[in-house]
Amino acid sequence: MPERPAAYREVMATARERLLGRRAELEQHRASVERLLAALTDSQEAEGTIATHIADAASDLMEAQATVGTLTEIDREVADIDEALARLERGTYGVCIDCGELIDPARLKALPTAVRCLRCQTHYEHRIQA
Ligand SMILES: [Zn+2]
Repeated sequence: MPERPAAYREVMATARERLLGRRAELEQHRASVERLLAALTDSQEAEGTIATHIADAASDLMEAQATVGTLTEIDREVADIDEALARLERGTYGVCIDCGELIDPARLKALPTAVRCLRCQTHYEHRIQA
């Protein structure tokens, strides 16, 4: 395990708090998105002419799809946060999963769920696009 510089230890010391804070924000966001989705479902049952009903249903459907997309993104980020918290527990937080080097503390500050150093992340993104 490479030696950890002071800036890295500082990031480690605040990582849990920042991850949990972000997680709480996401939970709140998720709850409001779910309320919106429930409201959309209710509005589809409202009275109206067939034409307005179809138009409403179509725009509601688009909105519902966007909403479900948002939920998927929220779930993915929550999963990333849980993984980062698990890595904190195991003491592997901030270590690149590809090369085993320490991830730049500035990168961890900007992106607390980062699992790769910038160099490996760039390689990784090239790989999945290819
Ligand atoms: Zn790396």
